[in-house]
Amino acid sequence: MNPSTAHSLGQSAPATEFEKNLDRLAAVAVHAGLGLAPGQELLMTAPLEALPLVRRITEHAYKAGATLVTTFFADDESALLRYRHGSDASFDAAPAWFFEGIAMAYRSGVARLAITGNDPSLLSKEDPEKVSRANRAQSKAYRPALELITRHEINWTIIGCSTPAWAASVFPNLPSEQAVAQLWDAIFKASRVDQPDPVAAWKKHDSWLHERCNLLNQKSYSALHFRGPGTDLRVGLSDGHCWLGGGSAARNGRYGIPNLPTEEVFTIPHKDRVEGKVTSTKPLSYQGTMIEEISVQFQAGKIVKAQASRGEQVLQRMIETDDGARRLGEVALVPHSSPIAASGLLFMNTLFDENAACHIALGQAYSACLKDGENLTPEQLAARGANSSLIHVDWMIGSNHIDVDGINAAGVSEPLMRAGEWV
Ligand code: ZN
Ligand code: ZN
Repeated sequence: MNPSTAHSLGQSAPATEFEKNLDRLAAVAVHAGLGLAPGQELLMTAPLEALPLVRRITEHAYKAGATLVTTFFADDESALLRYRHGSDASFDAAPAWFFEGIAMAYRSGVARLAITGNDPSLLSKEDPEKVSRANRAQSKAYRPALELITRHEINWTIIGCSTPAWAASVFPNLPSEQAVAQLWDAIFKASRVDQPDPVAAWKKHDSWLHERCNLLNQKSYSALHFRGPGTDLRVGLSDGHCWLGGGSAARNGRYGIPNLPTEEVFTIPHKDRVEGKVTSTKPLSYQGTMIEEISVQFQAGKIVKAQASRGEQVLQRMIETDDGARRLGEVALVPHSSPIAASGLLFMNTLFDENAACHIALGQAYSACLKDGENLTPEQLAARGANSSLIHVDWMIGSNHIDVDGINAAGVSEPLMRAGEWV
């Protein structure tokens, strides 16, 4: 049983510790993550099992002055029925009308909250060809809305919700009820909900991340060099890049933290200036399939060779999505001592795992990582080295065996991280 349904909203019963934590997570999402404004609408997406959390968030949002909260629920079992009974044409279909509606909501300033909790290997037994076609159709239909997110037009955030399927992947040897409870504990800890004043804790952590960004911005490196087992990678950075991390103000003026949790500082690689070999340090859950031990070779920014010990076919199809899918859109630094890494858990969910280790992302770049990037045309962005793609897939390349150097404009290296920790 899922504690989130077991303890749902007993109105007269005293609140359990779990209910208090759930409520604090909702408060953190609305106040620290979204920075929801009075008079603003909220659009939420969630797995069905997240209903108790959705209700807590809805309450906090209305109390914060939201004019309207609209939630769309998704169901893993229904998603699988498409693979069981859908016609061949089904796998090239996507609800473009739905994503147009979402883009329209963003254009009118609606805040966006995503709750993640899906089964990390939901589609791993399905035909990779069908999975890839369905993903492609979905990415294409979602693109106009995604662009508004990557340009940071509105305040948005993502949080986690423990569900039986996800918890079973993280704790395969525990009974379901216990697994769900343990994953909740890990989410609460990673989301700083276990601290006396979680919103204040996020403000403090946020300013630490900003300090780190300021330091890296002053350095203005031309490249980063990652070295470790199976990795010797030089990532050229875009001209006029800037480092981002923690919270920032969206173009609608609202200040929020777009990922809860977040431990990373990240910037924009130059799409043509990545050279060398890199090996993943954690498995990647890519839209319902696990990809393990990824190893790729870059030449002039482009992947020329890609392998994986598991899910290689899915990896190959992913990088064949378009030209930009073979190039980097993000490079991020996370110390090995981050609370999420310290938990020692593999969450099999990017929101958590990417905050446990240094990572890179194939595909779409965040133009906010370029000075004045939000005002550039697609051609100007490309000229500055910003990558463009239908996909944006983060995967982990950091560990306590990885060293990172910053290389300045004169070509001189200086140590940034040693054995996974900031120097
Ligand atoms: Zn990242
Ligand atoms: Zn990313």
